[in-house]
Amino acid sequence: MCIFCKIIKGDIPSKKVYEDEDILAILDISQATKGHTLVLPKKHYDNLLTIDNSVYLKVMEKAKMLAEKIVPNLGAKGANILNNCNDVAGQSVMHFHVHILPRYDKEELKIEFTDHSKNYNLDDILNKIKQ
Ligand code: 5GP
Ligand code: ZN
Repeated sequence: MCIFCKIIKGDIPSKKVYEDEDILAILDISQATKGHTLVLPKKHYDNLLTIDNSVYLKVMEKAKMLAEKIVPNLGAKGANILNNCNDVAGQSVMHFHVHILPRYDKEELKIEFTDHSKNYNLDDILNKIKQ
């Protein structure tokens, strides 16, 4: 059983931000920013590529609802909502979850996009995606 399934079952303690029949939101054990929250479906899905669409929409709806509360209540100025899909993208727990990262200033967390577009042919990419 994965670590988040154990948390959902109650075998591992957690700080619960929100819970309903299908969704659990907990404080991340490692707070990348103050109020860093994880939103997860109670049913186990490995990742974004395998999660059922209706469950995914429920997770995202709750992530938005929680961000609407977390940002003003903690005095944040904004938030990053993100999902890491598979090891290559930084996923370390293979139970689908969305991070809510309240943001207080630009320096505390670096999520950088580097422009590599000169290495790629955009039309080739489009053709492949649309196949
Ligand atoms: P990922 O890297 O898979 O996108 O994110 C996994 C997150 O789960 C990490 O930010 C990590 O700190 C958090 N995490 C790992 N184990 C536990 C735990 O036992 N309890 C809680 N609350 N968070 C955990
Ligand atoms: Zn699980």
